Amino acid sequence: MIEKITLARHYGFCMGVKRAITIAEDTSRDSAGDVNILNEIVHNEAVVERFRRQGVGQVFSHSDASAGTLIISAHGVAPNVITEAKDRGLNVVDATCPLVTRIYDIVQKVVAHDYYVIHFGDPNHDETAGVVGHAPDRITVVASIDELITLPEWTSRKLGLTCQTTASLEEFVRFQQAAREKWPHIEIFDTICNATNQRQTAIMDLAPHVDMILVVGSKTSANSRRLASISEAICGKGHLISSAKDIDERWFAPDQNVPRVGVTAGASTPDFLVEEVVQRLMELSGGKAEVTQQEKRERTKKTARELECH
Ligand code: SF4
Repeated sequence: MIEKITLARHYGFCMGVKRAITIAEDTSRDSAGDVNILNEIVHNEAVVERFRRQGVGQVFSHSDASAGTLIISAHGVAPNVITEAKDRGLNVVDATCPLVTRIYDIVQKVVAHDYYVIHFGDPNHDETAGVVGHAPDRITVVASIDELITLPEWTSRKLGLTCQTTASLEEFVRFQQAAREKWPHIEIFDTICNATNQRQTAIMDLAPHVDMILVVGSKTSANSRRLASISEAICGKGHLISSAKDIDERWFAPDQNVPRVGVTAGASTPDFLVEEVVQRLMELSGGKAEVTQQEKRERTKKTARELECH
């Protein structure tokens, strides 16, 4: 029987997602003519569906939009996409998160000083495509330490290291160590965003004190998947669910011994989905569970040294 439900101290919408949604809402309200979003405004089905119902279209290439306004999602795009869309007469509204733009700025700055960039990230993610597009001949995307080991020694190259905003804190610390061993001269830029840092740190703190963690988020959301894998690794039971409908009563059967449940949500998950999950858990507890929020922590950013000690 569920006795206690604890919400993570940081969960749900981040600054970049709120900003992108506001930009898209304002644009769809104020624009005459067609409005299309390139890819998903944020990686969450409920948010994407809401825009669809409001008559905002979705395209997967700027060439699929024949006229009107094209909104660039929070994940950003390569600069040539914006140029080509403008050249085709589209009105481009850029909702790229400023923390993604920060990576573009770092890449452009170091490349102007003759650096090559190793970018730690998922090669198939929209954000990675946008980053690579800012210096295609100078960036090598690397998804794992195994891949890094196979790369050349590049002793005569100046090298910089950046990473996907939603990378795992612990994996990036290990990746940095491996990169430094291979290329002692590499310059490291920690480009994991603050929202990712706060949500992952909260889950690392909460997981040892609960019996299961439910992560509310879309399977297409990299940061939600990451929270689920951290939960699974630390507390043994972590489920990524898109909404309350995905909760399986059998997870809480008496023989499963799950009295303490933690709840968190990815940075693109609206609050109402989290509220519905808490409501469903309350129902399953027969209305008896205590609902609390994880205590605040003075310092939320774990240092590389703290993570190395884990
Ligand atoms: S997860 Fe980070 S980088 Fe992505 S939109 Fe949110 S704040 Fe921006």
